[in-house]
Amino acid sequence: MSTTAAAVAWEAGKPLVIEEVEVDPPQAMEVRIKIKYTSLCHTDLYFWEAKGQVPLFPRIFGHEAAGIVESMGEGVTDLQVGDHVLPVFTGECKECAHCKSEESNMCELLRINTYRGVMLNDGKSRFSINGTPINHFLGTSTFSEYTVVHSGCLTKIDPSAPLDKVCILSCGISTGLGAALNVAKPKKGSSVAIFGLGAVGLAAAEGARIAGASRIMGVDLNPKRFEEAKKFGVTEFVNPKDHNKPVQEVIAEMTNGGVDRSIECTGHIDAMISAFECVHDGWGVAVLVGVPNQDAVFKTNPMNVLNERTLKGTFFGNYKPRTDLPSVVHMYMRKELELDKFITHRVTFSEINKAFDYMIKGESLRCIISMEE
Ligand code: NAD
Ligand code: ZN
Repeated sequence: MSTTAAAVAWEAGKPLVIEEVEVDPPQAMEVRIKIKYTSLCHTDLYFWEAKGQVPLFPRIFGHEAAGIVESMGEGVTDLQVGDHVLPVFTGECKECAHCKSEESNMCELLRINTYRGVMLNDGKSRFSINGTPINHFLGTSTFSEYTVVHSGCLTKIDPSAPLDKVCILSCGISTGLGAALNVAKPKKGSSVAIFGLGAVGLAAAEGARIAGASRIMGVDLNPKRFEEAKKFGVTEFVNPKDHNKPVQEVIAEMTNGGVDRSIECTGHIDAMISAFECVHDGWGVAVLVGVPNQDAVFKTNPMNVLNERTLKGTFFGNYKPRTDLPSVVHMYMRKELELDKFITHRVTFSEINKAFDYMIKGESLRCIISMEE
């Protein structure tokens, strides 16, 4: 195996083109995997549009996926050919201060890096077309039949887990779920506002429901989202467009001073500020999950913080991918977490651009892209 079909983004915002791409063998600590299913997350879309992000092209996007180990480089001891794996955009070396800390999942070596288009081992790409290197994305580049990933960014999972479902646990769903269960930690009977009712936000709503929150308020600009969100335990809806005052004031009025917790899953700076300002003083905690534009600035009056509100942020819901993700897969296997309701569309690899259209139009939660036609 030396060439593979991969969906290459040649230019910002232009449809991906399926190309025959050379994929080099894995180097030390790297693994080459065969992707079985991948899905589109909004983070792919931001970097493909490259409107608020640094453009880096040509590039192979994709970071939410499930696959099978094809070959391994030197030094990989905890995986074998044939293992079922989820690639994760932020890794776990298991040796650094972050990996050893109970609190952090921000691995020193393998934490998310949106700017890097090469592998760590030699600072080069494993993908090329006629000698032209193609950039990696988030160390995963899953819009390819075969891809090379650092072994610290691969979670070995139960081989009986259906890959066409659990692929969405490799980013969006675990991120939202963990943002609620591990970071916001709402108490039983509490109120939670969720900003952005895409897959990440709805997974956060699911987490809030599992934690026992009794009021789950969904905030979105797209009214189509509200009907769908009822399936995820969202009890009330607020569309900022329906009000002529800031949404944080609307929420404060609905909740006698503010919600106990809020979780922002939009990537928009105004929503981030509203999500912080809508939590109750004295105890409220807001958690930022959305990926902001590179030049976004968070502005709030410091009194909002002095009045004992807490602002937090998280990547991947604070889960350590290799240590914690298998337990999220088991939540699904034990039927404590439903995944089907997040999967609104399915397409084949050659139709990958449709997945982008569905997300841009706000029609899809997750669109699964099957690598087998
Ligand atoms: P999505 O496009 O499916 O959903 C986003 C939702 O937010 C949409 O329903 C949209 O209508 C709504 N929205 C947009 N602007 C809004 C505003 N100002 N107020 C209220 N609602 C608004 O996206 P997704 O895949 O669910 O991802 C959500 C966000 O999470 C993205 O920013 C993505 O980059 C980010 N993300 C972060 C992590 C992490 O680890 N921190 C992981 C995955 C995704
Ligand atoms: Zn993602």
